[in-house]
Amino acid sequence: MNYSATIGLEVHVQLATRTKMFCACNTDFGSPPNTHVCPVCLGYPGALPVINEEAVRLTVMTGLMLGSEINPFSKFDRKNYFYPDMPKNYQISQYDRPLCIGGAVAIEANGVAKTIPLTRIHLEEDVAKNMHVRNASSIDFNRAGHPLMEVVTEPELDSSEEAFAFLQALKQILLYGGISPCNLEEGNLRCDVNCSVRPAGQPALGVKTEIKNLNTFKGVFQSLQYEIKRQIAVLESGGTIVQETRRWETETGITESMRSKEAAHDYRYFPDPDLMPVVLSSEQIECWKALLPELPRQRCDRLVRQYSIPPYDARVLSADKAMADYFEEACRYYASSQATRSAHAVAPSAAAGDEKLAKTGPKAISNWLMTEMLRLLSEKGIDIDQAAIRPKALAELVRLAEAQVVNSNTAKDVFAALFEQGGDPELWVKQKGLVQVSDAGAIEAMVEKAMADHPGSVADFRAGKSAALQFLVGQVMRASKGKAHPQRVQELLKKKLTTTAN
Ligand SMILES: [Zn+2]
Repeated sequence: MNYSATIGLEVHVQLATRTKMFCACNTDFGSPPNTHVCPVCLGYPGALPVINEEAVRLTVMTGLMLGSEINPFSKFDRKNYFYPDMPKNYQISQYDRPLCIGGAVAIEANGVAKTIPLTRIHLEEDVAKNMHVRNASSIDFNRAGHPLMEVVTEPELDSSEEAFAFLQALKQILLYGGISPCNLEEGNLRCDVNCSVRPAGQPALGVKTEIKNLNTFKGVFQSLQYEIKRQIAVLESGGTIVQETRRWETETGITESMRSKEAAHDYRYFPDPDLMPVVLSSEQIECWKALLPELPRQRCDRLVRQYSIPPYDARVLSADKAMADYFEEACRYYASSQATRSAHAVAPSAAAGDEKLAKTGPKAISNWLMTEMLRLLSEKGIDIDQAAIRPKALAELVRLAEAQVVNSNTAKDVFAALFEQGGDPELWVKQKGLVQVSDAGAIEAMVEKAMADHPGSVADFRAGKSAALQFLVGQVMRASKGKAHPQRVQELLKKKLTTTAN
C-alpha cells in the first residue's frame, strides 16, 4: 500500500537582541554558566518582567517579511509546567493572541515549487539549559529568558525533503532580515516536528507523533525519514500509532518514545497579570513595513536586472546574503576601476574592448565566486566573511585577467594565494614576476626553441598526429614558467608548423 506523510514544523528562533526578553541581562553566547542572570530570569518571587521592544519589532518584521497578518492587540500568557529548566514553573509565551497570524514560506524541493502556509508566529522566552554530566545534572540560566520566536507551520509539508527546504528558506529570510544569527551550533534555531502517515487517498489524517528539540537541519531530515518508515511499518503490521512525544537519537539514528503527548489545556494557560498587552498602532506597523529589507527572491531578480548575470548565478549568489553582498561590493569596485581607466589614458588594446569588459566584469566575478571561492570556502569550512581575499582584490584580479596581464592559470594561483593571505593582486603579480608574456617576439623565440629541441614532435605533427601540438604548447608554457599567453603560443606554433613544412 502507498502512504502519504503529513508534516508540520514548530521552529524556535533565538532573536538577535542584546538583552533578554523580560530583563536587562546580556544574551551573549558562551559566557561562563550563570553569569547573565538576575531576579527576573531566575524567577525570584516579586521580580517584575518588562517587555523587550526590540524582540517585538523583530517578530513583527518577520511576520511582515512572511506576509503574516499583524495582530494590533496581542498579549503574553503563562504556560504552566514543572521542570527545572524554568524556575518560575511557568514560561511566558503567547497563547490565543500571538503577534502574527498566517503568512507563508515559498520553498522548492525535488524540483517542485510550493508555498507552505504558516499558522502563526509568536514570541516567548527561552528556557535554561540542562547539562548532564555523569551522575549529576547542572543548569545554566544564561539562556533562560532569551527572546524566542516560534514559527508554526500548517501541517502541509509532505516529505523530509520539503521540511529541509522549508528550514533553509526560512533561515535565508531570517538572515536577510537580521532577525537572528541562525547559528545552529549555538542553538539559535531549534525545531519540533509533527508527523503522521495515512494510506494514500484517505482524507482523514493519521495519528501524529512529535519529535522534540532537533538542533540541526540534518537531524530534522533524518529523523523524519526514520519516523515515516517506522509509522508505516507499525500500520503495515496491523498496529496503531500512539500519539506521543519522541526523541531523536543522533548516534543510533532512531526516534524513541519520551512521553505521551500533553494536550494544550494541560498547561493551564492564563494571561500574565504582570505584563500589559502589546498594542500596535497601524502607523507603527506601517513604519516598520517601510523598513523591510530586500528578500532573497527580490535580490535574485535584481541581480539579474542590474548586472546582466544569468538567473542561475543570481540564485546561487543570493542564497547567501553575505555572498550576495560580497558580489555587489566587488562589482562596485570593478565599475569604479573601469571608470578611472576610461577617464585616464587607456591602452589602445583595452580601449577597444571596454564595452565588452563592462558586461563581462560581473559575470567574471560571479564565476570566481561560484567556482574557486565556494570550493575553497567548503574546503576550509569557513564563511565568505572570513576569506582573506576581499571584494576589492577580486575585482582587481578580474581586471588583470581581462587585460591579459595574467593568464587564467596564473589568476587561479593568485586567487588561491590571496584567499589565504589577502593583499593586492597587482602587487602580488609584480612581486612574484607572474606577468603574462604576450610579447610576440618573446613567444616566437620560445616557440622556435621548442621546435628545434623536439624535431620528433614537429615531424609527428606534420605526419598528421595532432596530439603533438599540445606537447609542444606544453613545452613552451613550461619554458615560460606558465606565464606565456597560451592562446598565442598555440596560434603561433600552428602557423609555424604548417607554413614552414618542408
Ligand atoms: Zn535577567
